[in-house]
Amino acid sequence: MAQEVFTTYEVRPGVIAIDEGLGRFYLVKGEKKALLIDSGYGTGDLEALLKSLYDGPIMLAHTHAHGDHTGGDDLFDEVWAAEREFPLLEELNVPAGKLRALKEGDVIDLGGRKLCVMETPGHTAGSLSFFDAENKLLFSGDNVADVTVYLSMPTADVQQYRGTLARFWTMYPAWETLLGHHGKAEQSIVQLRRMMAITDAYLQDQLKATPVNVWDDVWFDRLDLDGASIYLAQ
Ligand SMILES: [Zn+2]
Ligand SMILES: [Zn+2]
Repeated sequence: MAQEVFTTYEVRPGVIAIDEGLGRFYLVKGEKKALLIDSGYGTGDLEALLKSLYDGPIMLAHTHAHGDHTGGDDLFDEVWAAEREFPLLEELNVPAGKLRALKEGDVIDLGGRKLCVMETPGHTAGSLSFFDAENKLLFSGDNVADVTVYLSMPTADVQQYRGTLARFWTMYPAWETLLGHHGKAEQSIVQLRRMMAITDAYLQDQLKATPVNVWDDVWFDRLDLDGASIYLAQ
């Protein structure tokens, strides 16, 4: 069974983490509909899995357009994301006609649960985060992780990334749980602070990068500082 690639668990009431090993994505359940935040690598039978998890309409929205977040997009008639992310989504073969735009301040009402859309650029230009204020949950995409964060892909921007981290920092403790896609599901305020420190050190020219062969003939520069790590393009 293809479904074996997924491990699912309830991170918080009504919030299911769907783990594929190298990353995870989330199903957030409401009374009227559910929100799928990203769709994974496209490895397993996601359709069957979603049917087993939720009996009702499911809306798909993206934190951003990287291939490890868009693998199940074929299952959906509408794919919601920031407009600035549309070119990357089209490169990943999501038809333009399916794309629907989300922007800062939009509210996704699932019935009994609302998620506010935040524009949080840096990892990509059109990266979004989703904030559930009532439950103090912040779905922060690939921004904060206890594994290496990629700022090495097209449209990444370190200055914008630093601004996004500052925004998360300022919001605290309006969020108590920061849910990420790589590394551990729940990322701490301490890890956020580490990501801010490494980004500051780089921007102030205080860190030396190490070239790393990431896959095939692709090399990135890696920064490491006190439990935080970032890839930059060479
Ligand atoms: Zn990513
Ligand atoms: Zn990712």
